[in-house]
Amino acid sequence: MEKTHAEKIRRDRKSLPVKIIPLGGVEEIGRNMTVVEYGNDIVIIDAGIQFPEEETPGIDYIIPNTAYLEKNKDKIRGIVISHGHIDHIGAIPYFIEKLGMPTIYATKFAKAMILKRQDEFPHKPKIKIEEVSSENSVKLGQLKARFFDITHTIPDSIGIIIETPYGNIIYPGDFRIDLDLKGKPVNTEPYEKLGKENNLALLLESTNAETPGFSIPEAVVHRNIEKIITEAKGRVVSGMFSSLLERAVEIINISEKLGKKVVIDGYSMKAGIEIIKELGFYKPKRDVIIPAERINDYPPAKVVVICTGSQGEENAALMRIASKRHKHIKLQPGDTVILSSSVIPGNEKSIQNLKDNLARQGAKIIHYRVADVHASGHACQEDLKLMVKMIKPKYLIPVHGHYFMLKTNADVAESMGMPKENIVVPFNNGIIIEADGERIQMLKESVPANYVMVDGLGVGDVKEVVLRDRQMLSQDGIFVMITVIDSQTGKVRNSPDIISRGFIYLRESQELLRATRHLIRKTVEEATGKMHPINMDYVKENLKEKIGKFLFQKTRRRPMVLPVIIEV
Ligand SMILES: [Zn+2]
Repeated sequence: MEKTHAEKIRRDRKSLPVKIIPLGGVEEIGRNMTVVEYGNDIVIIDAGIQFPEEETPGIDYIIPNTAYLEKNKDKIRGIVISHGHIDHIGAIPYFIEKLGMPTIYATKFAKAMILKRQDEFPHKPKIKIEEVSSENSVKLGQLKARFFDITHTIPDSIGIIIETPYGNIIYPGDFRIDLDLKGKPVNTEPYEKLGKENNLALLLESTNAETPGFSIPEAVVHRNIEKIITEAKGRVVSGMFSSLLERAVEIINISEKLGKKVVIDGYSMKAGIEIIKELGFYKPKRDVIIPAERINDYPPAKVVVICTGSQGEENAALMRIASKRHKHIKLQPGDTVILSSSVIPGNEKSIQNLKDNLARQGAKIIHYRVADVHASGHACQEDLKLMVKMIKPKYLIPVHGHYFMLKTNADVAESMGMPKENIVVPFNNGIIIEADGERIQMLKESVPANYVMVDGLGVGDVKEVVLRDRQMLSQDGIFVMITVIDSQTGKVRNSPDIISRGFIYLRESQELLRATRHLIRKTVEEATGKMHPINMDYVKENLKEKIGKFLFQKTRRRPMVLPVIIEV
């Protein structure tokens, strides 16, 4: 029955391809969101945020641009979610109303994470959310969604199958292949089973596409951490990303087994563990987890701390512990700190700072270069290859990552014999990819995909000019000159006042200030001398340009120059 229906659609709309449009996640890490469109039906896969970059100072998040979806909101049949990480669900509160409150389909755990995040937006209308699992399916117009279990770092992660008349579009989301301690792939049955179906396209993550081999088995990481906890004579403090909830649970299990107590610190880590407990994914013995204020009730060798802040984030728990700002947790010689994460590029300096502070307090530091105490939750090259081999898709579309990562992912697939013309590397966010049973192509046109920024409570109201100002201020500071002008004569009264911040130290730059004041007076009076009445806007512009140029000649810096003119 189902099949004949699909065939009928295919006959009726032979020329109608399936559209795949990545709205985010193909030019960056994060902001993952993909649109699958067929005829009058649109299904949205994931809706994540991206954390700010150097070029976007003062911004909280960057979210996908949903202009195309807003225009086509009548076609939206639902949002399907692969897992509860913020780079896959974080953008939901910002746009769901604009899309007409479509139903969200998520697993039990992802649903709890989405609802938890929604709590931070109490004034927004209630979202519609339905629980799904690898056991059920959802009809979404002419499309249909099914799910398969995958391994990642957070409970209840699933891959998504979108059935189209031309075959399945498969999106595993974030994943890694499960390996046993001997390095043999296990739990691959769902993928192998799926490989027997007609799979049109595989949307494959590229986060670790540059890393050869398999990802380090989480089992190895657990074994190494267990060894450290077993041998520790003092406290063990394990700093990690709050997204690594499965590892956190494993550490609680190990501690429980060894008769040690666990303190969990850091808002997002606590919240995550709380949800895991509530949903029954994990049931700790009642008194294993203790509050931080009771840490001194136990001998050091009996305590394990799990906390956030392995990247040296200034206000995260681990940094507060390291810099002696933590209310309850103080390090002492003999304590061991495990940095159970890799170094995210750009964070090198703050991590060094963190390690310095830890070492000063006599703690022994173990990080991923010393021992395998961290494994990424993302597929490396061999994981990717195995996935392609098992799913056997007709077409491959690398997603999640910067363009060069996507390209590397494509190269890996090509190296295993996948025809080049069957691989499409999305050129930019918003690009439209069309596929049918015969071919796949990337169109020349894109839908809007430029940055939408969230700054405090505002969405998308941070214009480029604001960012440019912030960049300028952060690089070369600000230079304000206050000039009093006689509106009748155009002469400058008194000596101009100068205020500067983040530019030069005024007290040591008297010579420069004198010269600048002189130039201000000269510039103003040259301009006003020929004018009647005086056009103050012109005077200001002129002043800004001349003084800006002068300061650059003298200092090689470009502070933001602000002329203030007071007419008397
Ligand atoms: Zn993830």
